Amino acid sequence: MKKLAAGNWKMNGTTSALTEVQALLAAHPAPACEMLLCPPATLIAQMATAASGSGLLVGGQDCHPKASGAHTGDISATMLKDAGASHVILGHSERRADHGETDALVRAKAVAAMAAGLVAVVCIGETEAERDAGKTLAVIGGQLDGSLPAGATAATLVVAYEPVWAIGTGRTPTLAEIGEVHAFLRDRLRGLIGDEAAAVRLLYGGSVKPSNAAEIFAVPHVDGALVGGASLKAADFGAIVAALSA
Ligand code: PEP
Repeated sequence: MKKLAAGNWKMNGTTSALTEVQALLAAHPAPACEMLLCPPATLIAQMATAASGSGLLVGGQDCHPKASGAHTGDISATMLKDAGASHVILGHSERRADHGETDALVRAKAVAAMAAGLVAVVCIGETEAERDAGKTLAVIGGQLDGSLPAGATAATLVVAYEPVWAIGTGRTPTLAEIGEVHAFLRDRLRGLIGDEAAAVRLLYGGSVKPSNAAEIFAVPHVDGALVGGASLKAADFGAIVAALSA
């Protein structure tokens, strides 16, 4: 399976930030892994135009479960697709925390994403208190069960394991802890979607940077990364792409 380097720009970037995309494409015109950047919605169309004909994929950071209607300020999966997106991040812990998103809502959004022809990048992860209480596998297992849409396949679903306490903190789980969770997720996925689970990309996310990327990517069942802060700069994201392509 091709590995995936996915970047989440969060609420960062205006038009001038697109120079980073040009620099990334100049440095990595044909990477061995898939490259995905998820900018703010305002930049999707421009980034998709800049990426046209390259190996770079463009994604959204959220979508509404409905295709259209009276939902001021929201964006549908169909609209993301229309703007040039191929993927959408769903259930990021910042949305679960800031907007009270539940597993059921994330699942409804994933259904909408798949119906619109987008790949759903479904995020799950435990808080620090949950890890300290020894509940990590129970929490992420429950999130996986509750967030995945029926009929998900390796072509329509990516799962990102992102410990909440590792996001933007510079802290990461040990390689053994990452390995334990990813092996657990592969197994749990098999129970949910059968043999297809073997080909679903399982990303690790949380303070991935050039200096720790290679060792994290060597962990079994880590099929790529979801990268926040380090995806904003072409040099850093490019180094992560290079580590995944090795
Ligand atoms: C994220 O928000 O998805 C993330 C992993 O952030 P960071 O890489 O900055 O920890």
